[in-house]
Amino acid sequence: MPIERTLSIIKPDAVAAGHIGDILKILEANRFKMIAARLRRLTRKEAEGFYAVHRHRPFFASLTEFMSSGPALVMVLEGENGITRLREIMGATDPAKAAPGTIRKLCAESIERNAIHGSDAPDTAAFEISYFFPGIDL
Ligand code: ADP
Ligand code: MG
Repeated sequence: MPIERTLSIIKPDAVAAGHIGDILKILEANRFKMIAARLRRLTRKEAEGFYAVHRHRPFFASLTEFMSSGPALVMVLEGENGITRLREIMGATDPAKAAPGTIRKLCAESIERNAIHGSDAPDTAAFEISYFFPGIDL
């Protein structure tokens, strides 16, 4: 299994609800190592650039408003098969469809306010890591 880095964000809903500790506990139990982290409120423009692939979707305006609505914990995580494994631990986009024990099942409020982001492939992980942590060694 390759050691991979991935970009994760504990989204503003989960930070506001006091779920940072719950989520980090799950990540650590799953042997993810934190390489970098920053707690900060994204600007609307940063959220729009980050989610640019979704710019034509009907939820884009609402999503980018939500993502810039309060502090979020932006992290680079590393682990064996980290990209795919983080997605598994996160659970389905819609918490109503997320498997028991997943972060979204435990912490998410709705399909939009769904607690956590994780890169979905090696190329998006590379883009997203350098988007928030320019200059970091990939
Ligand atoms: P994921 O985060 O699981 O990779 P997507 O890439 O499809 O999901 O969508 C990006 C984010 O946009 C989701 O995490 C969620 O916050 C939001 N989103 C996705 N689908 C919807 C929807 N139908 N309505 C509102 N928000 C959505
Ligand atoms: Mg996605």
